[in-house]
Amino acid sequence: MKILAYERVEKPVLDALKEKHDVRFFKNIDTKQDKEFIEFLSEADGIIGLALDVNKELLEKAPKLKVVSNVSVGYNNLDIPELTKRNIMATNTPGILTDTVADMAFGLILSTARRIPELDQFVKNGHWTESLTEEHYGTDVHHKKLGIIGMGRIGNAIAKRAHHGFDMEIIYHSRSRKPNVEKEYQATYMDLDSLLQESDFVCLITPLTKETEGMIGKREFQLMKKSGIFINASRGGTIVEQDLIDALKNGDILAAGVDVFEQEPVDSNNELLKLKNTVTLPHIGSSSYETELKMSQLAAENLEAGLSGRKPPNLINPEVRAKKI
Ligand code: NAP
Repeated sequence: MKILAYERVEKPVLDALKEKHDVRFFKNIDTKQDKEFIEFLSEADGIIGLALDVNKELLEKAPKLKVVSNVSVGYNNLDIPELTKRNIMATNTPGILTDTVADMAFGLILSTARRIPELDQFVKNGHWTESLTEEHYGTDVHHKKLGIIGMGRIGNAIAKRAHHGFDMEIIYHSRSRKPNVEKEYQATYMDLDSLLQESDFVCLITPLTKETEGMIGKREFQLMKKSGIFINASRGGTIVEQDLIDALKNGDILAAGVDVFEQEPVDSNNELLKLKNTVTLPHIGSSSYETELKMSQLAAENLEAGLSGRKPPNLINPEVRAKKI
C-alpha cells in the first residue's frame, strides 16, 4: 500500500510502516504546490500524520484514499462530512495523551500564577541583586477556584490534579453534566457566563468545532475577574486571539497561558509574544517522548486496521465502515 506520512510520525513507527508499505514522508512543504506531494497523494491508500488539512480540495486529488489517521485527539483539520461522503475512514488518538496534556495545562496554570518563566529570566539575567518586593510576587494556585470549559477526558484529568493536588474548588461547563466528576471532585456545573465570572483560573479544553469557534472573545474576557488567569490548551481557533491580547493589555484579566494559536507556527510579531503577563508554548501539550511515541503507534494501528478492512480502534466516522465492508 502507498502511505503518505506527514509531519509528526515518530521514527520507529515510520520505520515499521516502511517495512510493509511504500511510505513517503513529507514535512514543511506547501501541500498545494509541492509536486512530489501531489503526485504521491494521487496514488495514496492512506495518510498518517498531524494537522494536515484534509479538505475537499485535497480529497479531490486523492482518489484511492481509504484511511486518514490523525496523530492527535483533536481532528478539526479533517473535514469529516466530506471524508464520510467519500467512504474514507478517519481516526484519531484519544486517551493515551490525556495525562500528558493535563500536566502541561497545569504547568501553564502554575507558571502564569507564579510567574515562573519571567522570574527565571530575572535570575538568569543577573537582576536578583537585592531583596525581593511585592513587585515580584505571584498569586496562589492552591485553594483557588478553577473553571474548566470542556469536561472531557483532559478536563477530567485537570480537575483530578486540581482537586487532589491543590485543594482547588472546581466549577465546569460542558455540553452535558458529568455526575462522576461532580461526585469525585465535588465539581459544580455552571453556565459559561457564571463560570467566567466566578473563576480565578479559566481553563479552556474543548475541541475546535463550529460551535466552539471563537467562543471566548471580548465579552467573555470582560466577564472574567480582573485578577483572573486564562489558559488555552484546546486550539487557537476557540478564542478570538486579538480580544485576548486586548484583555491582557487593558487589564481585563491578569495573565494568560497559551499552548495554541490562531496561526501555527505563530508569527514572531504576534503581540502575545511581547506581553510580560503571558506564558506561551509551541502547541506542545501532548509532546512528551513517551506520549508522542504512543500516539504514533496508535495512529499506525488505526491505519493498518483500516487498510486491511478491520474496524480501526479509534474510528471517528463509523458510517464509512458500515458501507465499505
Ligand atoms: P473529549 O474527551 O472529547 O472532551 C471534550 C469536551 O469538550 C467534552 O466534555 C465536551 O462536552 C466539551 N465540549 C464540546 N463542545 C462543547 C461546547 N460547544 N461547549 C462546551 N463544551 C463543549 O476530548 P479530550 O480528549 O478531552 O480533548 C479535548 C481537546 O483538547 C481536543 O479536541 C483538542 O482540541 C485539545 N487538545 C490539545 C492538545 C494540545 O497539545 N494543546 C493536546 C490534546 C488535545 P460533552 O462531554 O458534554 O460533549
